[in-house]
Amino acid sequence: DADISQLDPEIAASIDAELVRQRGGLEMIASENHTAYAVMQAQGSMLTNKYAEGYPGKRYYGGCENVDVIEQLAIDRVKALFGAEFANVQPHSGAQANASVMHALLKPGDTIMGLTLAHGGHLTHGMRINFSGRLYNVIPYQVREDDHRIDMAEVERLAKEHRPQLIVAGWSAYARQLDFAEFRRIADEVGAYLMVDMAHFAGLVAAGLHPSPVPHAHVTSSTTHKTLAGPRGGIILTNDPDIAKKINSAVFPGQQGGPLEHVIAGKAIAFKIAASEEFRERMERVLAGAKIIAERLTQDDVKAKGIGVVSGGTDVHLVLVDLRDADLDGQQAEDRLAAIEITVNRNAVPFDPRPPMVTSGLRIGTPALATRGFGEAAFREVADVIAEALIAGPDEDLSPLKARVEALAAAHPLYPGIANLA
Ligand code: PLP
Repeated sequence: DADISQLDPEIAASIDAELVRQRGGLEMIASENHTAYAVMQAQGSMLTNKYAEGYPGKRYYGGCENVDVIEQLAIDRVKALFGAEFANVQPHSGAQANASVMHALLKPGDTIMGLTLAHGGHLTHGMRINFSGRLYNVIPYQVREDDHRIDMAEVERLAKEHRPQLIVAGWSAYARQLDFAEFRRIADEVGAYLMVDMAHFAGLVAAGLHPSPVPHAHVTSSTTHKTLAGPRGGIILTNDPDIAKKINSAVFPGQQGGPLEHVIAGKAIAFKIAASEEFRERMERVLAGAKIIAERLTQDDVKAKGIGVVSGGTDVHLVLVDLRDADLDGQQAEDRLAAIEITVNRNAVPFDPRPPMVTSGLRIGTPALATRGFGEAAFREVADVIAEALIAGPDEDLSPLKARVEALAAAHPLYPGIANLA
């Protein structure tokens, strides 16, 4: 029972270094968050030892009485949180959740439609070398060139032409809300299932600050670790009992073996937190922060450098910076923010002329900072720092900006009670 510091000091030191990194800088990757200490406690518990193939009350292993309670709590809480009739909390990740939905509803060779990766879709929505692109016939849809919004008339036209079995609505890099009712109308028109992947905006839905896809979609999938702020993992929701049965057998034994009950315990805790007033208030700050950043990055000093915001603003927790007309490319912009300890990711923007390893965009998200307590004044300061970093000349000294980032980080302590391991 040696402590990690004695048993494996190299790993302990790297975990400590990661805590220092997260504390010292600003995490603005839109898909990331700082999960609750209690979630990490559950994930670090002896639940990791337990095999529990099957579902609560119907397991293929003995000794499941405690994990049954935990998994049932997770199911009940997530159903209540999103107003769904059925939930599967076992997917190991968002990708596993999506694979399970497709496994449940489709056979190889069927046709699916999804937002193309280059315009903000996810790998699992039909990217060529992902399982979704290899197993299914993919008809991608796009955003419009003039306003960067999904063109629902084009979705309808493609659906009528290709008669897909599944339409996927959801995104990884898109700053606007989707019209779920319209997606469902089109799906019904062509006899397709509608799957909404709410991985990115699930926290906003939980807080009631974004329309819910659950009443509209045949199936809703999500990750639990982005805006929802739980452990890394996936969930699947539906209101249809027949689909629920298919989903359960697609997850286990279709896609996975033993569920990760330590993670499911973390999910249950995250769902409890997400139902709280404190979480709703946090999601309000997430949205306010993203709006502040979008507004700052559309001001004249930024515009003058050829920098803009895809779709002109945001309705969600992220801003997509458009560098197509800028000297700075996505890689350089990412590096520049990294140099002042702001972590973001470069991201292709629609109709991007630069290659995917370079890109002409940045994806900037506010969930992790809101979790850290950032309010409007702090977000205004972050927005200014980002704007000033992006418009700086190539030889400009960025150290004053770095000092401002360090001051913001220091003013918003992260995991204050957690000590180093090594
Ligand atoms: N779906 C969407 C929309 C995502 O953005 C992501 C992750 O970025 C996933 C699914 C996959 O989640 P995971 O990384 O947990 O497999």
